[in-house]
Amino acid sequence: MNLDHFYIDGTWHLASTGRQHDILNPATRETMGTVALGEKADVDAAVSAAKQAFETYKKTSVVERLALLHRILDGYRARYDDFVVAITQEMGAPISLSRDAQAYCGIDHLEATIRALENFDITESKDGYALRHEPIGVCVLITPWNWPINQIVCKVAPALAAGCTMVLKPSEYAALSAQLFAEVMHDAGTPKGVFNMVFGDGLSVGAPLASHPDVDMVSFTGSTAAGVAVARGAAPTVKRVSQELGGKSPILVAADVDLETVIPECVWLCMENTGQSCNAGTRLIVPAHLHDQIVDLAKAAAASYTVGDPMNEDTDIGPLANIRQFEKVSDLLAEADRHGLTPVTGGLAAIDNTQAGFFVPPTVFAGLKNQQLIAREEVFGPVLAILPFETPEEGLQIANDTPYGLSAYIYAQDQNLAAHWASEVRAGMVHINGAPLVSDAPFGGYKQSGNGREWGAHGLHEFLEVKAIMAQNEEEN
Ligand code: NAD
Repeated sequence: MNLDHFYIDGTWHLASTGRQHDILNPATRETMGTVALGEKADVDAAVSAAKQAFETYKKTSVVERLALLHRILDGYRARYDDFVVAITQEMGAPISLSRDAQAYCGIDHLEATIRALENFDITESKDGYALRHEPIGVCVLITPWNWPINQIVCKVAPALAAGCTMVLKPSEYAALSAQLFAEVMHDAGTPKGVFNMVFGDGLSVGAPLASHPDVDMVSFTGSTAAGVAVARGAAPTVKRVSQELGGKSPILVAADVDLETVIPECVWLCMENTGQSCNAGTRLIVPAHLHDQIVDLAKAAAASYTVGDPMNEDTDIGPLANIRQFEKVSDLLAEADRHGLTPVTGGLAAIDNTQAGFFVPPTVFAGLKNQQLIAREEVFGPVLAILPFETPEEGLQIANDTPYGLSAYIYAQDQNLAAHWASEVRAGMVHINGAPLVSDAPFGGYKQSGNGREWGAHGLHEFLEVKAIMAQNEEEN
């Protein structure tokens, strides 16, 4: 499969260069095809199409935009199984996870955006003025590979709902699902120029999009380093930059919980999607007097997973998504090794180098201090750090001692302690006693985890400008 066309102005255009990126199956390292890597000429064509289309699309009614979102939802549902397989093939998510969560995010965000738009007031009457919410303009959407459809749809749907036009640059490591999504957009009758997509890498396509003078906003999801580069590139044109970045989320466990039930749940918060979730709970912060018992339970949970072929229905942990990620995780494990840190299960020595795929076994480090590398760095792999605390206040201090602030997970029977931890932890999302994410609630982080809020009504408002209209009554003159 050679993806050598970009979707611009309602049609498929041959890429302007011959540069390509191999699409590798991470479970086998077999080449499944290639994806073209664009350059500035493709960026300019896509932005120009979006700029022109904005003049008419911004005037569409809420009813028209709702109808478009419903058509996209229908088209997405019709190709659901294709999305499931594409995601597993391109980034190695176990097929059951692709079906139940990864691909399902597309439906979830389209439905949440429809709900948000149905309840949206373009104009609000205030004391002495009217407040109008207007589309911000041409938006650039830059997405990563780890939850590829989740991130595409939670940007495209609210941008459309707001009345914006857009250029999507999906990750070069997750082109298959992006291609399918662009086909759904086309088949749904999205007006030409409203949605455009250019494949490419960060430097040749992402950077020129971020700095483009005709772009009004960049919505970026990815690593903190790339997010900073995007913001720098966007600064001279003073465009809005919304960043959804990395994480190193704490799981705070109180002494009063049922450990046999809670600890396996905590380990899965780290290991799901092979540890490649920005909001993964990767620092398990536990009472010191229960540390050894918790380590045994965590080790048993990690050892219980089926690691292997992601197309197999029984697989819990697939390969890492690509060679870059495999090398990053291997390097961090090697560095931990050099610092004398030995995991209680998994780790560098447990990687089976005879396997072709990018497999890293579930790994647990115990008895860590928060300054140690594995406790601080976002590994983005199946690697859990267990850290002991003497008092609940010290636990909280460890939880907050990180440059990140995306999610926090709290397990406590004592409701006062749970409420105290929840109010004092510096994170954009807090889950108490296993409560899951809610697609209408804002998703985003504090500190270096970003400055944006996606999903539902908050996601819609990211793509809107506000205009205050003050009018003098004739009689008052
Ligand atoms: P990445 O930063 O390497 O790439 C993300 C996207 O940015 C890709 O499309 C890439 O091509 C592009 N890009 C890279 N450098 C760029 C530049 N200089 N200018 C413009 N675009 C550039 O991240 P990744 O490896 O694809 O994804 C993993 C990272 O994403 C992790 O750090 C993870 O925590 C983060 N993430 C955050 C969230 C969130 O919502 N907070 C969600 C998912 C992933």
